[in-house]
Amino acid sequence: MLPFLRPDLVNFAAYTPHPSGTEGSLDHPVQQLDRLDTNENPYDLPEALKQKLSWAYQQAIESNRYPDGSQAALKTAIAAYANESAAVDFVTPTYLSLGNGSDELIRSLLIATCVGGVGTVLVAQPTFSMYGILAETLGIPVVTVARLPNFEVDLAAAQVALAQPRAIPIRVVFMVHPNSPTGNALTAAEIDWLRSLPESILVAIDEAYFEFSQTTLLQELPQYPNWVILRTFSKAFRLAAHRVGYCIAHPEVITTLEKVRLPYNLPSTTQAAAQLVLSHRSELLSIVPMLLKEREQLFQALMALPLQIHPSTANFLFVQLQSTVATAWGLSPQLAHERLFEQLKATGTLVRHTGGGLRITVGSPEENQRTIHHLRRILLNETVETAETAETTH
Ligand SMILES: *Cc1c(COP(=O)(O)O)cnc(C)c1O
Repeated sequence: MLPFLRPDLVNFAAYTPHPSGTEGSLDHPVQQLDRLDTNENPYDLPEALKQKLSWAYQQAIESNRYPDGSQAALKTAIAAYANESAAVDFVTPTYLSLGNGSDELIRSLLIATCVGGVGTVLVAQPTFSMYGILAETLGIPVVTVARLPNFEVDLAAAQVALAQPRAIPIRVVFMVHPNSPTGNALTAAEIDWLRSLPESILVAIDEAYFEFSQTTLLQELPQYPNWVILRTFSKAFRLAAHRVGYCIAHPEVITTLEKVRLPYNLPSTTQAAAQLVLSHRSELLSIVPMLLKEREQLFQALMALPLQIHPSTANFLFVQLQSTVATAWGLSPQLAHERLFEQLKATGTLVRHTGGGLRITVGSPEENQRTIHHLRRILLNETVETAETAETTH
């Protein structure tokens, strides 16, 4: 081990990024996987918008110049969208900080609150893994509490965790609304608990899936100066490749986040892309009802399989194998899910094995049909060999 590296990082398991859809080289093309592991919108931007973006790059962006470090035009457009999304009017650019993905904002929040041994983070597992991962890379301790069988936070356990005296106090609570990987939106009881948290704790409410769930706590932000709302352009808005997320918070929080961010964190092309999708938002978001219908159809179809499927208000489903399957396979639940994950991947469907189950993104109708087909073949006692033979013919 190189002596200048932090020992806690050397053995640390980081986030495994999304593998490329087409692995292999031009000489050795490998089968295309259905990428249903990172909850993106299955559709690329329409051709006409891509052309507009190319035009912006060719005509309006000077590649030798730094991007607009104030991000003023984009912030104004996001403020208008944020107000519209919750039927409010208080969001102005002073309430916004933009990040290179909301992942950057999560890190900025951690730097602004906890770094230097002054704060601990609380999360309820299973949840989005980046909170814990980013905290650990910054040397910030993470306290985890469990969820109930329906994936609501175990609020009694959370209260106990908060009340416990600790050397480094809890400074941030991260909640996803609706949660990933489990798909459940915050309940009235959970929201009441967030309202009850003292002002000494920052409450980060991650609404990455807002456009699917249409559930938001933005309208309550003026009453709770310790709350922040995180959103992203990576999911419904189809801009995962461009990396842009935003944080809505009280101007005092924003001032600090703005000090923490890198001056030119959003490339000019990214700012142009985000402005473009916002100005075409009704067209782009008109696909959402179709994806929600697909989610319901996927849900119904999977009910016929030996799976427990959890209700979701987002663009993904969380499924767990019934215990009879693991028993029949002679495997622990963990290994049974790993086997199902591997068999799905081998048949062409990439999902995410996390939180004690599989998280499956709702894809295009064709992708969802293949997901159902592959799961049937694996779970209804057909051998993988027949599955692979069938694969080559479709
Ligand atoms: C996808 C996702 C994000 C990350 O979004 P980026 O803007 O792409 O960094 C943040 N939070 C949750 C819960 C997500 O699912």
